[in-house]
Amino acid sequence: VGRHPTPQAGPTKPAGVDRIVAIASGKGGVGKSTLSSNLAIALARQGRRVGLLDADIHGPSQPRMMGVSGKPASPDGKTILPLHGHGVTVMSIGLMMDPDKAVVWRGPMLMGALQQMLGQVAWGDLDILLVDLPPGTGDVQLTLCQKTQMTGAIVVSTPQDVALLDARKALDMFDTLNTPVLGLVENMSMYVCPDCGREAHIFGHGGVRDEAKRLNLPFLGEIPLDLDIRLAGDAGTPVALTDGPVADAYKALAKRLID
Ligand code: ADP
Repeated sequence: VGRHPTPQAGPTKPAGVDRIVAIASGKGGVGKSTLSSNLAIALARQGRRVGLLDADIHGPSQPRMMGVSGKPASPDGKTILPLHGHGVTVMSIGLMMDPDKAVVWRGPMLMGALQQMLGQVAWGDLDILLVDLPPGTGDVQLTLCQKTQMTGAIVVSTPQDVALLDARKALDMFDTLNTPVLGLVENMSMYVCPDCGREAHIFGHGGVRDEAKRLNLPFLGEIPLDLDIRLAGDAGTPVALTDGPVADAYKALAKRLID
């Protein structure tokens, strides 16, 4: 009696997965999903075994961005087999539902879906599992950080003040949840005119770097506002698959994250 401590329902992690890193943003539309897919591909191109879990329950975009479709199979009715796109193991709540139907799930159902995607998907052996979170500071973030052994989170923001304001809330949430922030990323940092080559800072520039410095957090890098990023994402062939300055920006980010 007393020799075997009662097992605690502490945070868990799928067997075989080394690190779990969440990609978060304070608000929608700042490019969190675009960053997730490109980062996943950049890591895979560097020889890492990468998984991408699309947990953006209300706006799952990874099936389109990663060019995967079809319902994941479950031969034994329990384990769910993930899909594969561009060398990345992919699972998205979007693959389990009708793409034209809006999701009006209640909290517990949502959490059930998330737990299922983490616990029942046959992720296999992965060096890193990226989780594309919904924007903001809601239940999904809370549950994930409390129930899963997170390595940490990356917060992406545009340099605009309003976006930064929301990013601060996300940073504060991770602080409260004791989830380490691995770094900040500035997206849509600058625009280089394809005709004249002049740099324009449509949403400002440097705000996220300054914020990282102020908070003593790593700054992982900046991604330009670039038409190819949008086009390639929409086409299901993210720009990180190519070679060039934009793909290099993601490559550098991936290196900084994993080294
Ligand atoms: P979020 O996941 O934060 O809601 P998305 O990744 O879906 O944002 O991006 C929103 C839109 O902006 C998408 O159409 C995407 O293609 C586009 N986008 C994201 N990052 C960039 C970028 N650096 N340059 C150009 N377009 C971008």
